[in-house]
Amino acid sequence: MERIVIVGAGQAGVQCAISLRDEGFAGQIVVVGEEPGWPYQRPPLSKAYLLGKMDDEGILLRAPSLYADLRIDLRAGVRAQAIERSSQRLQLSDGDALAYDHLVLATGARQRPLPAPGAELDGVASLRTLADAKALMARMGHVRRAVVAGAGFIGLEFAAVARAQGIEVTVVELAERALARALSLPMSYFFEERHRAWGSHFHFHRSVLDVRGVGAVEAVELDDGEVVPADLLVVGIGVLPNIELAEAAGLATGNGIVVDERLTSSDPAISALGDVALHPNRFSVTGPVRLEAVQNAVDQARALAASLTGKPKLYDAVPWFWSDQGDLKLQMAGLAAGHDSAVLRGDPASGAFSVFCFKGERLLACESVNRPADHMAARRMLQAGLPITPEQAADEQVSLKTFLTARA
Ligand code: FAD
Ligand code: NAP
Repeated sequence: MERIVIVGAGQAGVQCAISLRDEGFAGQIVVVGEEPGWPYQRPPLSKAYLLGKMDDEGILLRAPSLYADLRIDLRAGVRAQAIERSSQRLQLSDGDALAYDHLVLATGARQRPLPAPGAELDGVASLRTLADAKALMARMGHVRRAVVAGAGFIGLEFAAVARAQGIEVTVVELAERALARALSLPMSYFFEERHRAWGSHFHFHRSVLDVRGVGAVEAVELDDGEVVPADLLVVGIGVLPNIELAEAAGLATGNGIVVDERLTSSDPAISALGDVALHPNRFSVTGPVRLEAVQNAVDQARALAASLTGKPKLYDAVPWFWSDQGDLKLQMAGLAAGHDSAVLRGDPASGAFSVFCFKGERLLACESVNRPADHMAARRMLQAGLPITPEQAADEQVSLKTFLTARA
């Protein structure tokens, strides 16, 4: 193979390029990324960077010199416009056309726009890109009252930072509880209670009907008629996968670009990975999934790079995630969707506990707050498929470490 072209210079695209070199690929690697500047990490945008504890150098994915050192041709600020599958060429927004032997689509996702009048007003903010974070930070110094649409990760991570800066926060969420898509009931209630203790207000089963203001946001009307005064509205209502390039080229798509367990799309010369890839996953009991997380992007990139260099490898790493909110460190291993029971290990009142999620007797996932040892043990159990019963998981007398060793 002479040339591999990667579309998207985010976590997945950049890791794929680096892993290709790690695996000994000697051909050309071109990475085409629409965003300007050096590739950066997104997680700090709602955490350390937003708090002013990380600078523009610290947030970079890799040192700028690495791209030249590894002979990675990074085309930043350039959009891939169209894929010509018959001739294996990619049309770029700068007029160039790139021939490829293999094409990797790492186009990620974009924020779902708020479906409400007034969403274009000044003071309605997104938090997906570095540019979004800079704009938000420039505003936060003058903000007294913020409304947050969505009690997902963006919404709650932002709420924790905003409360730490003394901003009044009201969170509006469509579902009946916080982090409903990601977390079990006990963990979700724990986070809600902590955020309330930090001073955030919640409206569940509610959405934003109207954003009011002249030029800039002044108040937010909810769908029950309540009007909440605000000088900032942060939107965190989920993402849409960037599938349009693949769709226009006739690749199979749905809620993402459809790939198999080797991350190959419906065209064998094209793969997809990261936030955009709708893939079969042996840890999912609810069918193919699209995972929106750093670890998945990195693990998929490594697996794909191995496959593309002749060491066929399935992506079968245990998915895991994290979120930092205030003094809480949440770690999740496995995929909880589809669980029918959840048991506690430890006492939530202590601020350090875990929830083990089961379907029948099968462990699906473990959510831990400030208990990294539980998280690590659960990851190993899930990866190896080690059996543990709900009773054993809930019993603190059963040391997970011993339990692991005994069964290893
Ligand atoms: P992306 O990061 O979305 O990158 C895709 C890139 O492709 C983008 O730069 C996009 O502009 C570009 N692109 C798209 N279409 C084209 C095109 N046609 N031509 C050229 N370029 C194109 N995950 C965690 O695991 N833990 C966290 O704590 C965490 N915190 C987060 C905090 C925030 C604020 C955000 C926004 C996300 C967070 N995530 C976190 C999620 C994580 O950042 C994503 O899962 C990860 O970035 C996905 O990487 P990706 O490369 O697949 O997609
Ligand atoms: P998210 O986690 O999907 O949460 C969005 C929430 O908003 C969902 O609960 C959703 O409910 C709700 N919602 C949808 N429409 C709404 C509306 N009109 N009004 C009010 N609420 C509405 O997405 P996110 O928080 O926006 O995060 C965006 C992306 O960044 C995701 O990929 C996320 O994984 C990633 N991220 C990850 C982390 C982390 O891992 N620590 C941190 C920040 C961001 P429904 O589910 O019912 O639609």
